[in-house]
Amino acid sequence: MKTNLWLVVPCYNEEQILDYSVSELKKLMSSLKDEEKISTESKILFVDDGSRDATWEKIKVAHQADSSVIALKLSHNQGHQNALLAGMTYAMDKCDCVITLDADLQDDISVIPDFLSEYEAGAQIVYGIRSGRKKDSVFKRQTAQIFYKLMKALGAEIKYNHADFRLMSRKALEALSLYTESNLFLRGIVPLIGMKSAEVYYERKERTAGETKYPLGKMVGFAADGITSFSVKPLKVISIAGIICSVLSVAGLLYALISYFTGNVVPGWTAIVCSIWLLGGIQLLCIGVLGEYIGKIFSEVKQRPKYFIDEVLDDKEK
Ligand code: UDP
Ligand code: MG
Repeated sequence: MKTNLWLVVPCYNEEQILDYSVSELKKLMSSLKDEEKISTESKILFVDDGSRDATWEKIKVAHQADSSVIALKLSHNQGHQNALLAGMTYAMDKCDCVITLDADLQDDISVIPDFLSEYEAGAQIVYGIRSGRKKDSVFKRQTAQIFYKLMKALGAEIKYNHADFRLMSRKALEALSLYTESNLFLRGIVPLIGMKSAEVYYERKERTAGETKYPLGKMVGFAADGITSFSVKPLKVISIAGIICSVLSVAGLLYALISYFTGNVVPGWTAIVCSIWLLGGIQLLCIGVLGEYIGKIFSEVKQRPKYFIDEVLDDKEK
């Protein structure tokens, strides 16, 4: 039996690039169908993540022209990770495997046949790995490096240079659906599933139209989310910092007492001011880190739904 493959493509304000993406993806799917690598039931599933531009209208036109282009419209902008989850959850019981990719096609779709070969050879998860970051700005490359190194040091097992370009089989998707946490960081969760996996290397391209939806602020938030969702080490670091400070302050106290009894008391304005600022800063930072985790617990216990599907464009569902 030929593989029923679904491409899951999240889109947020992508009107500028959508037509190009639709035509490229359709070309790829029809050549795969012609070569009998995938079944004719295979689909391209767009997930509109509450776009405020003409993205949904463009998707509708694409669906009317070709019923293998289907779509979900989320009621509100829920973020890339939730949009991916919405698409994968919808696809889970309707296909054999999904490949998730960005709407801007920065991930090289010409390696999709390699994903399929790995899947046919038994891999349940195939990770798309960037072979280099030559096209990125020096800043993005450096910050990405720091992020991966930090994640590794903190004990979270994530794939180096892998974003959300990956194939997942139905079995892997079913396993993923059992992770019900609301702070979703797919790159961290997917390796936890285990199962047989493979890697496919590709060169990531530049965005050809529209602009990134991940400006610096969002990127830092995403990294902080990733770290606090997968590691409690920052909490341990706080405790260790606290112990070190306490030990040092005992030494400081001894020094002060000895100075007092030897009559060597100088008005120590500098030392006092410095220690107040330093300790105040460390304390605020530690409280902030604790707050991050408490915030996470707060959003987890509420168990709010991650998204609502507002509209479905899929002839099978009518
Ligand atoms: N995206 C989304 N919801 C958001 C932000 C982004 O669905 O709130 C989608 C976006 O349309 C794109 C993908 O996520 O398909 C990756 O975004 P982008 O290309 O802007 O990120 P970058 O490649 O710059 O990291
Ligand atoms: Mg992009």
